[in-house]
Amino acid sequence: MIERDSNVSNPALENIRGKIEKSARLADRKTSDIALIAVSKTRSSDEIRPLLDAGHHVFGENRVQEASEKWPALKADYPDIELHMIGQLQSNKAAEAVALFDYIHSVDRLSLIKALAKEMDRQERRLPCFLQVNIGEEPQKGGCDIKAVPQLLEQARDAGIEVAGLMAVPPDGTNAMPYFALLAKLARDNGLDGLSMGMSGDFEKAIKLGATHIRVGTALFGERAPQAA
Ligand SMILES: *Cc1c(COP(=O)(O)O)cnc(C)c1O
Repeated sequence: MIERDSNVSNPALENIRGKIEKSARLADRKTSDIALIAVSKTRSSDEIRPLLDAGHHVFGENRVQEASEKWPALKADYPDIELHMIGQLQSNKAAEAVALFDYIHSVDRLSLIKALAKEMDRQERRLPCFLQVNIGEEPQKGGCDIKAVPQLLEQARDAGIEVAGLMAVPPDGTNAMPYFALLAKLARDNGLDGLSMGMSGDFEKAIKLGATHIRVGTALFGERAPQAA
């Protein structure tokens, strides 16, 4: 175990925390109701450790394979790591995902619900999940249809999965505000509290519209090299 008593401050992390506090204050919300997920996809363990040393322990990855190469060793060194799966998930990766992650943000179809539920039963590990909504109705994007949310919610609950809320990635290069507002309304209409929305460029807007989980990569780690397909 690596001692956390002497937390080393991290300027990028302090900067984001400051912005979260300010946005929360302006929206009359509590900072403690907003979880910062540090998105560490494509980052090496050496790039991740400074955040862990600064006392941050909530991270997000978008690929099971990459995450399973990095995180077991980091988990052994640092206690209390909370790992969020934020990328599209294939059903045949459900076993690995349930074993490694603590939350799944990309549940968007019945076949995946079934695969995850089966693994949660088998491993006796219950992961709260977010239903991902294709909020901009983009053909290439993951997420269920806006109209399908009530049915998917029912299917997840019938399978014994705890649904923490809704997640979305608004279309690139557009004003995200209306999409965040729509996701928040969908969550409200379906009695869900969790809202996973907002990234480096727009997390302050997302907080204003009720985000409970923001997913921030670039603003913490710097620009990312493109991921291979
Ligand atoms: C990469 C990624 C993020 C983080 O994006 P940044 O712009 O680097 O903050 C958030 N959510 C999802 C689903 C991602 O794939």
